Amino acid sequence: MDLKSGYPFWAVKNGLLKTFPQLNRDHQSEVVVMGGGITGALIADELSSQGHHVVVVERRDIGWGSSAASTALLQYEIDTHMSELAKRYGEADAVKAYRACADAIGELEALAAGLGDVDFERQQSLYYASREEDVLPIKEELAFRRQNGFLATWLEREEVLSEYGFVAPGAILTQVAASVDPYRMAYQLFERVAAAGGEVYDRTQVERIKPEQQGVSLHLSGGTTLRCQHLVIAAGYESQTWLPDSVAVNRSSYAFITDPLPPEALGKLRRTMIWESARPYLYMRTTRDGRLLVGGDDDDEDIPERRDARVLEKAQGLANKVETLWPDLAINPTFSWAGTFAETDDGLPYFGPCQALGPRILFAMAYGGNGISYSMIGAKLLRALIEGKTHPLAELFSFKRHTLQ
Ligand SMILES: Cc1cc2nc3c(=O)[nH]c(=O)nc-3n(C[C@H](O)[C@H](O)[C@H](O)COP(=O)(O)OP(=O)(O)OC[C@H]3O[C@@H](n4cnc5c(N)ncnc54)[C@H](O)[C@@H]3O)c2cc1C
Repeated sequence: MDLKSGYPFWAVKNGLLKTFPQLNRDHQSEVVVMGGGITGALIADELSSQGHHVVVVERRDIGWGSSAASTALLQYEIDTHMSELAKRYGEADAVKAYRACADAIGELEALAAGLGDVDFERQQSLYYASREEDVLPIKEELAFRRQNGFLATWLEREEVLSEYGFVAPGAILTQVAASVDPYRMAYQLFERVAAAGGEVYDRTQVERIKPEQQGVSLHLSGGTTLRCQHLVIAAGYESQTWLPDSVAVNRSSYAFITDPLPPEALGKLRRTMIWESARPYLYMRTTRDGRLLVGGDDDDEDIPERRDARVLEKAQGLANKVETLWPDLAINPTFSWAGTFAETDDGLPYFGPCQALGPRILFAMAYGGNGISYSMIGAKLLRALIEGKTHPLAELFSFKRHTLQ
């Protein structure tokens, strides 16, 4: 699977930060993490910081999958409203999922502080009603969140205009959000894993996975074998290929970034990420150096050549949408790209074993608009499972909620 096309900003900005060796001998470890994106990085770091021996294998270069293409808005707000999740799974589980996402932002902040410069910044999040008829459901969602202890403010049309300078019939403003450079964060986490005695290998592909009585054996591209007690499949949107049945739909999202814009042009956008109630939604944030990073216009295309051909046109379409909101903001897409992402029908991720492959093979499928917050939750959840402990979200985020058993 070709996970991205065009010029993803993080890869362009940071380049290849470090090359890790290739694994070309038989080897073994307590835990193997397959996949060197932000999910694999958070899981490997969580495990190695708790004394587990971890070997990471990545078939490309580290961070070169979807993590390089991510716009990396860190939100507690799941693509599915809390009130909708409550109808489906009950209020307690819906609140638990949202609460865990909110906590994950604080946990990512603490990790970022310990790593050095990964461009982590606290932000506000403004979720605006795209159409008049979205106002009522969004207000109901806000009331439901407040009832469950989440602080958020309703902004009327006039307040959106005076505070943020664009026209929308209303919006929810929350204080719990952040942004990060996910590519840099993945590299720094893997360097920390390596410094703590873990092993990280890139350009090392897992070709076959065989569950065994006491563990798992992996056949690698060079003909070598890697054995472990527990395997974590953190292969991003390619993880589904290892499941007997599909649990999510692959789509493409498009993004662009501008050159740095003057602070007076950005105004409150500098510290506020923006998204909307329409589906697919327009989403945007700024970077520390004052660039505007915009994504959206998702479609069902997952054939890379066709997606590639659409990148420039999609970026221009997104730029036009931004200019419709702020006609005075001169928008020029400097780098634009597309990336595959996968959506589950309830907006929740999957973490844990799949019955067909046994308890020692754990999936880390942080699928959804706030995939990185999910990855943070997944790191702790999977450590709990590996250590034979319980986790409050193990059941809700398991394959049990899907027909796949
Ligand atoms: C355009 C776009 C915008 C997004 N915006 C946001 C956002 O604003 N906020 C947010 O939270 N999330 C966002 N996401 C989602 C987020 O990027 C993902 O949740 C996250 O990057 C997934 O990380 P990962 O490590 O699971 O996957 P990846 O980064 O893809 O890493 C998985 C790795 O596994 C490797 N791999 C696969 N198969 C094998 C194998 N057989 N052997 C060895 N290695 C293998 C791959 O090479 C890959 O590097 C966005 C995604 C896209 C595409």
